[in-house]
Amino acid sequence: MEIRVAQTAGYCFGVRRAMDLAKKTAEHTPGPIYTLGPLIHNEQAVAQLARRGIQVAEDLSRLKQGTVIIRTHGLPPEQLAQAKGQGLHVVDATCPFVGRAQKRAAELAAAGYQVLIVGDPNHPEVEGVSGATGYRALVVSSPDEVRRHRLSKKVGVVAQTTQILSVFQECVAAVLEQALEVVVHQTICSATRERQDEAQEMAREFPLMLVVGGRNSANTNKLAEICSREGARAFLVEGAADLNPVWFDGVEKVGITAGASTPDWVIEDVIRRIREMLPDARVTACDQRPAGVQTASGTAEE
Ligand code: SF4
Repeated sequence: MEIRVAQTAGYCFGVRRAMDLAKKTAEHTPGPIYTLGPLIHNEQAVAQLARRGIQVAEDLSRLKQGTVIIRTHGLPPEQLAQAKGQGLHVVDATCPFVGRAQKRAAELAAAGYQVLIVGDPNHPEVEGVSGATGYRALVVSSPDEVRRHRLSKKVGVVAQTTQILSVFQECVAAVLEQALEVVVHQTICSATRERQDEAQEMAREFPLMLVVGGRNSANTNKLAEICSREGARAFLVEGAADLNPVWFDGVEKVGITAGASTPDWVIEDVIRRIREMLPDARVTACDQRPAGVQTASGTAEE
């Protein structure tokens, strides 16, 4: 059996940057240190930060002192101002791609466009982008949903950074059925595009795809969705314990990818467990990965 690990699997630029910022803050700043919500959508990574003394807070108004780290998904502007107003030391780990989406949405709203965000209305990133428009934005997740709304004549469209490109394009086409003036900012991040393109390509070749990452991670779920759309049997696994030996029965080729918030050592754990279950499995292409997963004997960071 061949196992191939996607070259793009694992931490993206924004997550790596946020984790580095958080670890540096823990080393150099006196406590207490909080993140508002989990820094990234991966339980193992959040547990790693907790061991360094970084706590997850859900309610900003309860924080009276210390440092608050803004997560990769960003924060609505008024909450950022509130944190500073409460005298908290703010470390902003908002991914620059998310910051760009917020900025574009704010510009569109200021210029009088009805802002449409193609994304998940319950995702914190989308809340932040909507907040940048004064919560006047409309959030949609499909072209059918676009068609259910009566739109303004002037519409500006942005995407959640982890959106699937084809869904975004279909939503833009649906907007054009109603609006006379449409400004489109394609704010899907390059890390998402690269991971999705590679997953799509692999899913055409590999009948079984394992997508490693948090169940609450938007980009991980999108990767699993893309693999299924391409006809592969796709399973989202949070870690090695989720693997089911039955999945591998009669399978010759297994593809592995991982969300942008999945630590390398979690991917490595999954590979190690597959090798224990299937000693003849041959891992390919991993040595082309730019950094991270060592498929033979990689170790957890902590
Ligand atoms: S997936 Fe994209 S937007 Fe999200 S943290 Fe990574 S680089 Fe930033």
